[in-house]
Amino acid sequence: MKTILQILELYRKKETTPYEIVSEYIKVIEEKEEIYNAFINIYKEEALDRAIELSKYSVDEFELYGIPIAIKDNIAVESMELTCGSRILLGFKSPYSATAVKRLLNQGAIIIGKTNLDEFGMGCSTEFSYFGPTKNAIDHSFVAGGSSGGSAVAVKLGEVPASLGSDTGGSIRQPSAFNGVVGLKPTYGRVSRYGLVAFASSLDQIGPIALNVKDLALIYRVISGYDPKDSTSVNIEVEKIEDIFINKRYKVGIPRDIITEDVEKEIKDGFEYAISKLVDIGHIVEDIKLEYWKYALSVYHIISSSEASSNLLRYDGIRYGYRGSSDNLWDLYIKTRSEGFGEEVKRRILIGTFCLSYGYYDEYYIKASKVRRLIKEEFMKAFKKVDVIITPTVPVFPWKLGEKLDDPIKMYLADVYTVLANLVGIPSISVPVKISKNGFPISIQIMGNYFREKDILDLAHQVEFNETS
Ligand code: GLN
Repeated sequence: MKTILQILELYRKKETTPYEIVSEYIKVIEEKEEIYNAFINIYKEEALDRAIELSKYSVDEFELYGIPIAIKDNIAVESMELTCGSRILLGFKSPYSATAVKRLLNQGAIIIGKTNLDEFGMGCSTEFSYFGPTKNAIDHSFVAGGSSGGSAVAVKLGEVPASLGSDTGGSIRQPSAFNGVVGLKPTYGRVSRYGLVAFASSLDQIGPIALNVKDLALIYRVISGYDPKDSTSVNIEVEKIEDIFINKRYKVGIPRDIITEDVEKEIKDGFEYAISKLVDIGHIVEDIKLEYWKYALSVYHIISSSEASSNLLRYDGIRYGYRGSSDNLWDLYIKTRSEGFGEEVKRRILIGTFCLSYGYYDEYYIKASKVRRLIKEEFMKAFKKVDVIITPTVPVFPWKLGEKLDDPIKMYLADVYTVLANLVGIPSISVPVKISKNGFPISIQIMGNYFREKDILDLAHQVEFNETS
């Protein structure tokens, strides 16, 4: 399997062309898709045409020259379908591209297709997609993780060297951990959300998934930076690659109390193994106390569902995609939304509407916002003492397809560690540190201070375990 850096090297040596590379990846996609279902749409002809177009240029003119990339299907790419894994957007084509996508294209990347996801990003397994589940790349009888399951599986299978996902509560990092690839949720405001279909606007971020940390950093650099089209995007200079991988020694905070007895034994051991590896390399490891983390998952679900219930109001059957049939306007809204949304999305809209309703607003939404503030303050205090904080990415291994479908709470528990970085707004990376006896990788999450992606990328690179690093 080739990394981005290896492909660029082949171009430099003139040993291959973008056309050959795209053809190679399309061949893999055609072999694997029947089983894994990582893609919702594949744009073969368009990708090959763009590869031919690129051959007029040289590899040194662009940072991602001739690199095929897959895009999660809640991120807009001009004139491609934008389904969000939902029936309600069936047939809708995006009239414009997301800023992150434009930046990739400006640097010579080739968009090869749109990847599968839990409907509107709501889920932990990519089973809640109108287009059927994506299967785990290591064992296809297990879930892919989610919601960016398609983006993680496509990279692990070698269908693309890298992809974009979105992360509201762990949707890049959790499927990355389940499939043994690396994924980064940047700082809130680092990557423009323009063209990302909103789930929970105060938590959503676009980020990359790749085979190893060096490749991840290449994509991260290209998609980051200020965008006047997103009022929450921040104007802070993006690091150069040579300033990221400096092999620095860090002060690493370990919130030990977070490792409860619910964490699977082998994951605990893997986490301890990662800590000892850090110590061996020469990093300083220090225990830290976090009290409020245990409320994070409840706070996350109140805030994200509240924001989702408001964001998803726009799907009314008039403006986009699917329309229920009725000659009465009110009825048309009801039919469109009842038939267009899946069960999980309806559950979140109901929860969110409840949390925002008169009489409950203070008790749920306001209270959750206050606890969110406490979690944030606690992290800020911790970052006065340490440079980064680590936890396991997920407390459990991938589960069998279908196993948790009728127990949503059990499923949500997979996000207990990842939601923290979204609530606080800090960057976080998931990186595999070893393979467990059952064949699934064990990954840790490294969280850094605001706009310190450089620290977590540098550290992740020092501890990563994979075939290509
Ligand atoms: N799994 C989480 C949820 O179900 C997070 C989703 C996400 O990050 N988009 O909401």
